[in-house]
Amino acid sequence: MNAAVEPAASFTTAGHCPVCAGPAEFVATGPWWRDSFGCTGCGSIPRERALMLTIDRWFPQWREAVIHESSPCHRSTSARLANECPGYIGSQFFEDFPDTPQVNGIRNENLERLSFPDASVDLHVTQDVFEHVLDPDVAFREIGRTLRPGGMHVFTVPLVNKHRPSVTRARVENGEIRNLLPPEYHGNPVGDGRALVVTDWGYDICKRIYQASGLFTHMLHIDDLHHGIRAEYIEILVTVKPTN
Ligand SMILES: [Zn+2]
Repeated sequence: MNAAVEPAASFTTAGHCPVCAGPAEFVATGPWWRDSFGCTGCGSIPRERALMLTIDRWFPQWREAVIHESSPCHRSTSARLANECPGYIGSQFFEDFPDTPQVNGIRNENLERLSFPDASVDLHVTQDVFEHVLDPDVAFREIGRTLRPGGMHVFTVPLVNKHRPSVTRARVENGEIRNLLPPEYHGNPVGDGRALVVTDWGYDICKRIYQASGLFTHMLHIDDLHHGIRAEYIEILVTVKPTN
């Protein structure tokens, strides 16, 4: 997107929605299209459509896969994957119950200590989760450990620092969270409803993933109005586990 041109606060276009999987109308209701450029059919937003389009293109056999999604939102792309893939597993992380496998019937998974066996998951999906993980290097390693050869981690995370280096905003010291910068929070579907932002990521995230897990990551920036994909911070990252 041309950064010099402010997105219109009111905009409508027709195209094809990757989440509805059909013809759709996309309507922007405010200038911050990342949150306001919705599909009138399914309510998806641009990063969700970019994620679904990428899964369709990079992992077209997803319906027959074992998919694990950490912190799904029960709508849009998460709902589509859950509805059409019998092997879909959604989990939340209940940090107050770290050793309880299920909380209120929901699978409890800590990305830093996944309960999945080695090489047992075809596709890990995370949507705007990795900015909140306390030790992302350990989590990237766990993703790599649990992926089957040929498997992928397809995910969104806001790369707010772009070309500037990633910045760690908080870390755990002696079992306590220490804020290195003034705390910032995003909404959280579980717990007290807010999630601390731990890392302001930049484009160097691919190098961090490689250093942590030995796996290469593709960074895709999709600007595709026909599929309703246009906004800030909607890069899709695809970490691939080689087949041999
Ligand atoms: Zn849609």
